[in-house]
Amino acid sequence: MQILRKTNLEALKLVDRLEREEFLEKMEEKNLVGRGGAGFPTAKKWRMALEQDKKPLLVINADEGEPGTFKDKFILENNCETFIEGVMLASKVLGAEKAFIYLRGEYEYLRESVEETIDELDKKTSKDFDITVVRGAGAYVCGEETSILQSIMGERGNSMKKPPYPTEEGLWGRPTVVNNVETVTCIPQLLVYDDWNPDLRLFSLSGNVSNAGLFEVPLGVKVSTLIDLSRPKNSLKAMSLGNFGGIMPIEQDMEINPELIDGENCFHGTYSLVWIDETNNIADVCKNIAEFYTYESCGKCTPCREGSKEILDLLTKICNERGSEEDLEQLRYMAKHVNQTSLCGLGKTVGKHVLTGFEHFEEDFREKVEL
Ligand code: SF4
Repeated sequence: MQILRKTNLEALKLVDRLEREEFLEKMEEKNLVGRGGAGFPTAKKWRMALEQDKKPLLVINADEGEPGTFKDKFILENNCETFIEGVMLASKVLGAEKAFIYLRGEYEYLRESVEETIDELDKKTSKDFDITVVRGAGAYVCGEETSILQSIMGERGNSMKKPPYPTEEGLWGRPTVVNNVETVTCIPQLLVYDDWNPDLRLFSLSGNVSNAGLFEVPLGVKVSTLIDLSRPKNSLKAMSLGNFGGIMPIEQDMEINPELIDGENCFHGTYSLVWIDETNNIADVCKNIAEFYTYESCGKCTPCREGSKEILDLLTKICNERGSEEDLEQLRYMAKHVNQTSLCGLGKTVGKHVLTGFEHFEEDFREKVEL
């Protein structure tokens, strides 16, 4: 696996030999883009922070909470050394005197090993990096960059309006670069290995399958290949792209690319695919996802706080076979409305599974109200 390649701190040695601009150019040449979901070019983000008057700070987002996603956990467990090397490199190149690793609350068990790796690398490099591990409290919304910053500053993990973007005004008013664990781990690797491949991605595959797990495969991979790797127990009907990416019917020949993968409504997100088989009704799947959103809504804005609850209530009624045609209409209306009017990325996708579920599997919802 490319992501497991260790660099034996060779990349850190380059810090003293290459100028900042050479580093940035190398990252651009190798086409490194963020691996947290948005796919923003990493060097461009760094440049935006470096253009500001104040010195930047660095935050590493280790708060992956998208259901079905477990790639950053794998890196922290299996190649923490290269990850920390990447954090040190990024700190040095950005001139950030302080870096924070924002660790998902549920990954508390990894904190000790991450801190030990930081200490080990500090000793080996005799450089003075200031890296602090901050533990989140288990809120999904804290995977969003502005919420992370609020949380690190000791505030409630609420999303903030953008602009200003964190690269302009982040932690304590300082420009702040927020990068994801996988992105940062790629940095030493692309510097040391000429054959580093920017198109490889970590796919988290799960569901009712015999071989759930993490697979590193190139972009453009066909859905049929991912199905073969997962070995489903029953015939498949759909795939859920994390929670926020939507529900799509299985199309064996479809290629997974960085763009919206159905060219319209469904996002690839963090390349997590949860397979849904023929024994599942999509309305039940949507209810399950709605429970997640209702629990995770931070409550700051009304559409998401109230709307996620109403979507869940409607789905519960429909799934209990007490729903009506009007309930289906209201469900669709609410899903659209909440997506359009919520403040942050979480609320903007609260209705996605309902809308895409309806688009492709309307009969599953109708079956529930017609019984
Ligand atoms: S959209 Fe939801 S999670 Fe985001 S700020 Fe509003 S209530 Fe909080």
